[in-house]
Amino acid sequence: MEGNREILLLWDIDGTLLSAEGAGPQAFERALWLQFGERIQLSSIDWPGSTDFAIAYALLEKLGWEVNRKNARNLLDSYLEELPGLLESTRTKANPGVLELLEVFDRESGVYQALLTGNIQRGSQLKLGHIGVEHYFLFGAYADYSDHRNDLGFHALDLARKRLGKDFSGDQVYVIGDTPKDIECGKHIGAHTVAVATGHHSVKELAKHQPSVVLESLADPRGLRAYIGD
Ligand SMILES: [Mg+2]
Repeated sequence: MEGNREILLLWDIDGTLLSAEGAGPQAFERALWLQFGERIQLSSIDWPGSTDFAIAYALLEKLGWEVNRKNARNLLDSYLEELPGLLESTRTKANPGVLELLEVFDRESGVYQALLTGNIQRGSQLKLGHIGVEHYFLFGAYADYSDHRNDLGFHALDLARKRLGKDFSGDQVYVIGDTPKDIECGKHIGAHTVAVATGHHSVKELAKHQPSVVLESLADPRGLRAYIGD
């Protein structure tokens, strides 16, 4: 980083750092079967970018079960039990360029990396542990804190204050994610929004939501690097 500029990178997980495309949805589908005896495809609800609790509530509602914290918690507990095996069997990997970028930023002074994700904390740990990148993140704003993604941005800034003793202004923060919900959440805290088309949304779709920048992928680290500046 140039001079003394300090920045905070807030990373989304699914569709951004990795594609647990098979594992995540399948773990939810198996959990529904085990907990409620229901068979349904996760694709029948609008899940990308939603928090895990919001997904659980949407599934319960669709299936006509009572939408409450206890049912959602039971579903998510079962999801967490299914997830590790599925991350293995689906061979979930980091998205191209991600490992290199995390390492590059990790070595740079003035760059702080953390998570801003719809995953619950344990799910995040399992996914990131699986691809071996957990240690790069100083803290995480997880879905355990709020069912609403837009709350998680403020929570992340709060954690930065508490854990790092730093008060980042919007201009020092970069929210990196693959869905319109990530863009919206980043704008909510006045951060730069970096949209990456490695999830369910194309460059064109993401551009409609007017992020600060849209990248095809992170395979070429120069895209993100150039936007952030040296
Ligand atoms: Mg995502």
